[in-house]
Parts: sequence; C-alpha cells; structure tokens
Amino acid sequence: MDKEYDIIIAGGGLSGLTAAILFSKNYKVLCIDPDSYPRHKMCGEYLSNEVMDFLRTLDIDLDQETSINLEQLNFTTTDSKQIKCNLPQGGKGISRYHLDHLLFKKACLKATFIEDKVLDSNINKDTFTVTTSRDQFTCKQFIMATGKRSILDKKLERDFMKYKSPWLAVKMHYQYDMPDNLVELHNFKGGYAGISKVENGHVNLCYLASYKSFKEHKNVADFNTAVLSKNKHLASFLDNATPVWEQPITISQISFEKKLAVERHILMLGDTAGLIHPLCGNGMAMAIHSAQIAFKSLEPFLRNQISRDQSLSDYSQEWNKTFSKRLWIGRLLQGILLNKTYTSLGLWFLSKLPFLLPIIIKKTHGKPI
Ligand SMILES: Cc1cc2nc3c(=O)[nH]c(=O)nc-3n(C[C@H](O)[C@H](O)[C@H](O)COP(=O)(O)OP(=O)(O)OC[C@H]3O[C@@H](n4cnc5c(N)ncnc54)[C@H](O)[C@@H]3O)c2cc1C
Repeated sequence: MDKEYDIIIAGGGLSGLTAAILFSKNYKVLCIDPDSYPRHKMCGEYLSNEVMDFLRTLDIDLDQETSINLEQLNFTTTDSKQIKCNLPQGGKGISRYHLDHLLFKKACLKATFIEDKVLDSNINKDTFTVTTSRDQFTCKQFIMATGKRSILDKKLERDFMKYKSPWLAVKMHYQYDMPDNLVELHNFKGGYAGISKVENGHVNLCYLASYKSFKEHKNVADFNTAVLSKNKHLASFLDNATPVWEQPITISQISFEKKLAVERHILMLGDTAGLIHPLCGNGMAMAIHSAQIAFKSLEPFLRNQISRDQSLSDYSQEWNKTFSKRLWIGRLLQGILLNKTYTSLGLWFLSKLPFLLPIIIKKTHGKPI
C-alpha cells in the first residue's frame, strides 16, 4: 500500500469523510478510522438544513434518503411546562448509521481508507509522519477529525484534556408513535433529552446528563426511571416506547472547553476544533461546514501558491469568524437551561413573548452554505 499522501485525515466521522470527499477530487488522500461502516454513533440525529445545498454539490441529496423533515419544536422544563415553536431553518431526521455510510461510500470512490487508529504525528520540515497502531505514512498536510476526545488529543497535550469533563451522553432507538416533523427537547435535573424520528421510522432518544446527577444511580435504566421520568413528557415516552436495540450507546468525558482550530501545524475539523452544546442541534452541520472551510483554505497551499502557515492561519480565522459566536451562545443557553431559576424565568418570559424562541435558535445556526 502507498505510504505517501498529500492529505492524511485521522477520523472518518462527518467532518473527516466530508474532507476526504472534497480533497480526493484533486489530491491523494488517506483517511484512517478504527471503525467499520455502517455503525451507530452518539448523536441526536437532527441535521440542520444549512448544509443540504452543500451536500447536493457533493452529489448527496438527503431528500432521497429521508422523508423526515423536522420543522416543529416542543420544549419542556424539568417541571414539565412546555412551549412550542417552529424551527426557523428546520432540518432532516437521519441516523448516523445511514448518513456516515453514505458519505463513506462517496469518499471511497477516490480516497484510500484504512481501519486503524492514529497514535501520533510529527512534522519535520515540510512533511508530516503519521503513526498508526500498525503502520507509518507521510503527507504534506495532516488533518485531525477525531471528534470529541481521542488518544491523539492526549498525545498532543491539548489544553482541554487537562480538565475532567462532567458530561456523559446516552442514546437509544425506539419504536414509538410521534409526528414526523417534531423535535422534542425535554429538560430533567442535570441534563436534557432530544426525541425525534430518523429515516427508517425509528425514534431516537439522546440525552446529555451531568455525572453528578447520574452517579447516584446504578445504570441507565435506573436513571431513566428516577430522573428522566420526573418530567411527565419523558415519563410518557419511556412508558410507551419500545427499545429496538438491546443496549443503549453511552459515552463519557464530553468536553465543551474551548479548543484551537490549528495546533502544531495540524488542522482540526469538526468537534476536534470545538464542540457546540448538543441542545443547539448544529454540531453535524458545523462539522460538515468546517471541512468546506478547510478545503478552501488549504487548496492554495497544496497548489504551492501560499505557505502552510498562511493557509492554516486563513483556516483559523475563517473558523473563528464562522463558529465562535454560535459556540458562545450555545454555552450561554446551556448554562441557563440547567439552572432551575433561570429556566423558569426564561420560560415565563418566552411564554409572554413566544416569537423570541425561534430568534434565539437562529443565533445558534448559520446561513445555508
Ligand atoms: C449527546 C449529543 C447529541 C448530539 N446531537 C446532535 C444533533 O442532534 N444534531 C447535530 O447537528 N449535532 C449533534 N451533536 C453533535 C454532533 O454529533 C457532532 O458535532 C458531530 O458528530 C461531529 O462530527 P466529527 O466529524 O467532528 O466527529 P465524529 O463524528 O465524532 O467522528 C470522529 C471520528 O474519529 C474517529 N477517531 C477517534 N480517534 C481516532 C484516532 N486516534 N485515529 C483515527 N480515528 C479516530 C472515531 O472513530 C470517529 O469515527 C450531538 C452531540 C452529542 C454529544
């Protein structure tokens, strides 16, 4: 197998796969991920419409893949009060099982894939050496798209790895009767849960919870009964929905700390550059969008028109211009949402001025790309 590439991408999630499709049109690309496809992945599976046109330019038309158009939001507080509104831009309900597989099949047409884990990368003069658990490769530019937290973050001693993160997430697919166009966002003590349909009619329950609230309970089932079910909307869901998997997917150590978009000359994509709070429902679109920004910024360098430093600085600037404000609003919203007094006050305010909710949601999203 070839050992030399223009671009090596660690991570074949949404951002890595999108980058693999874009770069492999003109360059020699290797993408490395330990998983095989298709596979389920932690996610609320609400994909904002802001990237639909862009995906069409990659020959991926999600209208053909899912009929679930999410247009309405039902938001409830820990004490089960609710407020309903239209989702300003709306999005698609599509499982990561299906979406990542679609992108993977497209990327495979021109990029090389290997199932392996990247353990280290070093730059010497103009060349990166990328070490996996079984092999070593070289490239002109190394891209990290390894998601929320990886062994590489540790190796590179990235700042956010110094702090323990108080968040874990749980996801399960169910059979359940609900409107196709609805996203439910329910709060419970120490977290919140999203409920919506995906392309095959299954309903995804995905929630973020603090360790503090979770650790008092033995397992997910106990936590669901003791904590989620205090919200009567979640209680009704859990009573009436039938799980379609034997076990839920769980992940821990989810960090919302600030990260850098470029470190040690490595370009960071998607969650590797910064994770927006899931309640904003925009991380997937941001991951896809970041790959587009990376392509535009790195192309002149790959064509020897500008230096690597210039091209990485262009990426960093564009990333911050595009996403920093959304991440900040996401942090602010999450802070409000998990504080009972602020949430009650906020909800009272919104019930008097309901037109404000779509305006707030809009602030966490960008214009269609
Ligand atoms: C609870 C929760 C709910 C969410 N709900 C939504 C939602 O409804 N809508 C939305 O838009 N966003 C949502 N998000 C955010 C969204 O899931 C992420 O922003 C998105 O998946 C980011 O894509 P990515 O490509 O950066 O990372 P990922 O999709 O996580 O991909 C990272 C890839 O890197 C691979 N990898 C890791 N380490 C290595 C290594 N050392 N070498 C090689 N490969 C490696 C992994 O196997 C993985 O395939 C949610 C997030 C959470 C936590």
